[in-house]
Amino acid sequence: MEAPVTTSATPIKKVVILGGGTAGWMSAALLKKLLGNTIDIELIESDAIGTIGVGEATIPPIQLLNKVLGINEEAFLAETKATIKLAIKFENWRVPGESYYHTFGSAGQPMAFGQFHHYLQRAQQAFDVTKTIWDYDLNYLCAEQGKFAQINTQNPVVELPYAYHFDAGLYAKFLRKLSEQMAVKRTEGTVEQVHQDSTNGFVKSLVLKSGEQIDGDLFIDCSGFRGLLTQQTLNTGFDDWSHWLPCDRAIAVPSKRHEKTVPYTRSIAHSAGWQWRIPLQHRNGNGLVYSSHHYSDQQATDILLSNLDSEAIGEPNYIKFTTGRRRKQWHRNVVAVGLSSGFLEPLESTSIHLIQSAIVRLVHLFPHHGIESSLVDEYNKQSKTEFEQIRDFLILHYHVNERTDSQFWRDMRYMNIPDSLQHKIELFKSDGRIFREQNDLFAESSWLQVMIGQGIQPKDYHPIANALSAEELRQMLVRLEQIKHEPLGKLPSHDRFLAKYTRG
Ligand SMILES: Cc1cc2nc3c(=O)[nH]c(=O)nc-3n(C[C@H](O)[C@H](O)[C@H](O)COP(=O)(O)OP(=O)(O)OC[C@H]3O[C@@H](n4cnc5c(N)ncnc54)[C@H](O)[C@@H]3O)c2cc1C
Repeated sequence: MEAPVTTSATPIKKVVILGGGTAGWMSAALLKKLLGNTIDIELIESDAIGTIGVGEATIPPIQLLNKVLGINEEAFLAETKATIKLAIKFENWRVPGESYYHTFGSAGQPMAFGQFHHYLQRAQQAFDVTKTIWDYDLNYLCAEQGKFAQINTQNPVVELPYAYHFDAGLYAKFLRKLSEQMAVKRTEGTVEQVHQDSTNGFVKSLVLKSGEQIDGDLFIDCSGFRGLLTQQTLNTGFDDWSHWLPCDRAIAVPSKRHEKTVPYTRSIAHSAGWQWRIPLQHRNGNGLVYSSHHYSDQQATDILLSNLDSEAIGEPNYIKFTTGRRRKQWHRNVVAVGLSSGFLEPLESTSIHLIQSAIVRLVHLFPHHGIESSLVDEYNKQSKTEFEQIRDFLILHYHVNERTDSQFWRDMRYMNIPDSLQHKIELFKSDGRIFREQNDLFAESSWLQVMIGQGIQPKDYHPIANALSAEELRQMLVRLEQIKHEPLGKLPSHDRFLAKYTRG
């Protein structure tokens, strides 16, 4: 029978990380950097098992991670073969043949107590203005024109937030070097046995195929989808969300570098899934995320290979997954990070960010003096909320669609959605109100773009937009359009930026 005890007074001195994928090396580097010599870290990775080998698009908070780790951006861009990401372009999502962008920027300007889109909607209704939110978004303008450079003004109206596309394998190598410089010990080998304390079920040590035994006080399970510690050993359970997000397969294949590197990810919807196109310096990353109830693997492979914009240069990599999350992402002395903690499909490039936020959360709640249930419960509560908020945002893309070409899209449109998402949609539909939940990764601007992009037009705008006179409103829009367009003439093309800032 399972031991009921979930706390321990043992101080945490030695942390063992199982897994050397993106999750393992990000965890090692960040924990060591932030906790320094208060802990020893040993990371175990198996060359025989390898890593999942996908995950190329990121979101802006990765810049903070790199900054905290003291990473030089030029070296990072060169060594990970990175390009710049200003947005995701969603093609065919609302209806085939149409597209919209979800940018990292925001439309217009910050307004005291109001939101720009209400003012724009008033202008659209009152003066037949045909401009959209994207016409007032510098990220969109730069993405469309293929331009980029870092903009360092202190002016919140002229910002160009960005993230990266990179080779995840090279990023893990980069972080490994950094971690080893900070005295993280790396051990190569395959874990074959897990020893648990018979009194409380805590993990005591991992035994490698070679017979070597590695002891630890706290274990970070970065073993990928297999969840060797969190699931196979502690059986923490899984919340399955595939009734909302039914895609359960992916195929990834690299193709030759395209002559023009666009500063955005392309997400192209097909009849039962969607395809990503990610430009890197040396190649393109491509993949298809799909539902195995609608496509056979062969059909999916044919769809992907016939929709590349350059020649394939590798064999397809087939990946199975179930969308959802581990019920207890921290249980006893095991914290699941990365794919072992759950998986949300890569539609909004959130997995690498979830690794970052898991480690930051662990540092905030680090059990220096022993594992207490208050720390574990708080960690699990925050992780649950974070996963659920991202889940809702992903469902929005699928649910609000007007596609009539396949059963898949019709099913998505008529499915029951979580109450939390239904509430958000209702608020927006009536008069464009959007509220950011506390700590929601996606700000109002993200929800706005995807709601409008997927086809929700609010019936009305907030009356706060009526406080300006018609002339003041007209002038504000003209001024903002000028301000947003002004930097474009001075910015280099994305390709020129890359040539200047990279060595390779
Ligand atoms: C199709 C797809 C596309 C994705 N695209 C994106 C994206 O664009 N952006 C994004 O942010 N994320 C993306 N992700 C997620 C991203 O790939 C992962 O979050 C990231 O790679 C983390 O993986 P991991 O380190 O948890 O697991 P893995 O890469 O699978 O690493 C597992 C590690 O555990 C080790 N291991 C396992 N078992 C043992 C054992 N018994 N003994 C010793 N070692 C062991 C392995 O050797 C390996 O080192 C995508 C994921 C998928 C499936």
